Amino acid sequence: MASPVKEIPLIWYQAASCSGDSVSLLNTASPNVRNIVVDEIVPGVHINLQFQMTVMAGQGQPIIDILQTSAEAKKGEYLLVVEGSIPTAADGMMGFAGERNGKPYTMVEAVDELGRGAMAVMAVGTCAAYGGIFAAAPNPSGSMGVGAFFKSRGIEKPVINIPGCPMNPDWFVGAVAHILLFGMYTPEELDDVGRPLEFFGMQIHENCPRRPCFDAGKFAKFPGDEGCLYKLGCKGPVAYADCPERGFNNKTNWCIAAGSPCHACTEPEFPDKLSPLYQKINEERLARFKTA
Ligand code: SF4
Repeated sequence: MASPVKEIPLIWYQAASCSGDSVSLLNTASPNVRNIVVDEIVPGVHINLQFQMTVMAGQGQPIIDILQTSAEAKKGEYLLVVEGSIPTAADGMMGFAGERNGKPYTMVEAVDELGRGAMAVMAVGTCAAYGGIFAAAPNPSGSMGVGAFFKSRGIEKPVINIPGCPMNPDWFVGAVAHILLFGMYTPEELDDVGRPLEFFGMQIHENCPRRPCFDAGKFAKFPGDEGCLYKLGCKGPVAYADCPERGFNNKTNWCIAAGSPCHACTEPEFPDKLSPLYQKINEERLARFKTA
């Protein structure tokens, strides 16, 4: 008799986001999204997706009720995925999804409560990981990433950061599989900004197919030209991710191969300290990154 399949509840909560990471996940090729939702993601373990606003058929109060009852019923057992940054200004009234007891159910309340009750937390996309676009200066909404938000509220729940604008779906699926197979990442398996080294341990510039052009001083004058994109604003020298090997859209392409400079979208400094995006990186800033 086959052994029973273990169910891991997953709550995917979207705070201030463009839903780009949800869309990126829907594009996952191997496994495809049907495999993730229906099949065993690793042998003997099935992800039971309890809540995901972008793909849920329901809307309004009934889905907020589902969020609450799922979190209560599965307390301490569910994997919480947060997409988007948390807007904390004005007592959280800068961002809310649905109502509770006739009042806005703010993203601040939701991420606080869901985070405290989770078995583990993943921050997907750069906004959830580090604040990202929503936290760009002057940041009137007081937006911040999940790790900083938890720290500000004394929530001692480890957060695995899967940044990217958007994240690569392979990074999410791979990290979930890692957690289910081996348990939470150990500190040695993460870099100093909470990213799994297995996906973010590679510097883009060192592994770029245009690197011979950089070394030879052959630089592109316009996006799409042959040559290194450094003078067009490429931030590959300060970006860490396995994009050169993995690509996006099932290895179809990725930014630099398509002729676009890397914006270092996986870095905590994105976008403020890496702007203007289409201008050569400030040499002084580059030196600081290199010695960091
Ligand atoms: Fe480095 Fe960017 Fe040039 Fe590639 S295109 S070699 S990452 S500066």
